[in-house]
Amino acid sequence: MSTFSPKSILVIGAGVMGRGIALTCARAGYNTTLYDLNEAALPSAEAYVEKFLSSSVTRGKMTEDEKAASMARLSYTADFADLKGDLVIEAILERLDIKQDLFAKLEAQNGPDTILASNTSTIPITRIAAKLERPDKVVGMHFFNPAPIMKLVEVISGVKTSPEVAAAIFGLAEDLGKKAVMAKDEPGFIVNRVARHFYVESLLMLEEQVADHETLDKLICASGFRMGPFQLMDLIGIETNLSVTKSMYDAFFQDEKFRPSRIQQQKADAGLNGRKSGEGFYKY
Ligand code: NAD
Repeated sequence: MSTFSPKSILVIGAGVMGRGIALTCARAGYNTTLYDLNEAALPSAEAYVEKFLSSSVTRGKMTEDEKAASMARLSYTADFADLKGDLVIEAILERLDIKQDLFAKLEAQNGPDTILASNTSTIPITRIAAKLERPDKVVGMHFFNPAPIMKLVEVISGVKTSPEVAAAIFGLAEDLGKKAVMAKDEPGFIVNRVARHFYVESLLMLEEQVADHETLDKLICASGFRMGPFQLMDLIGIETNLSVTKSMYDAFFQDEKFRPSRIQQQKADAGLNGRKSGEGFYKY
């Protein structure tokens, strides 16, 4: 166990990332509560957890008893009053104003030692913490998609994050079976800053009709990548990927190299957000 051993972990947002993070915490032995303001997101998150764990049993990665114990450690709620604990991991939509509002409410409802972590892809932790009374307790804990499988977790310290809080989250991430790295509070941190060009350049090639999206995916996979950029955007969520690009573009003062794509904007406008909506660049 890490030196920081929270009695309870609260995960906020039961979407693509939150459900995977909650599953990861419960599987590692932590009592975990998954919250979403949209009550309808909870049964679908629970079905995802059940399916993922069942597949782990089928593949011999865990026993039926371990699956049942993991599921018993995970509860679901749409009641904000339930959100009191040692650690909060936020995974709601990528909007600074909404995250700031949520963190202010969480700080007011929790004690002085509660750590407030954000899974943001790009928003500076310093900004999320800016209006809080205890910015030293705010930290980035950036999982990758799919959270129960991907090993890397970036731990990001804002300007006022206490070193003890960052060290606690680093230790916890390792305890969850992840490979943790400390990252600076720069837009996109480490991986997303590099990865942005994978998407932005591929979308530009699509706009310029260099090739269609299937051909581009096939060629990129043939060169050794496990997934092509369009397959990956569908997995991430088109509107989430677009929000991340917009956030990076603004954070770098409209640097052309991060310019969002009209093709992606149009897909998001039409609700063609990828796997989670049944259609994105591909149909599911
Ligand atoms: P998502 O759209 O799949 O899920 C977001 C969930 O948050 C939804 O269920 C929504 O109902 C809920 N929500 C929205 N506002 C809320 C609020 N105020 N309180 C409680 N719940 C609220 O989004 P996602 O893809 O899971 O992304 C969540 C966060 O994780 C974002 O900050 C994103 O940048 C980051 N992230 C995403 C990925 C990815 O591949 N999708 C990877 C790493 C990090």
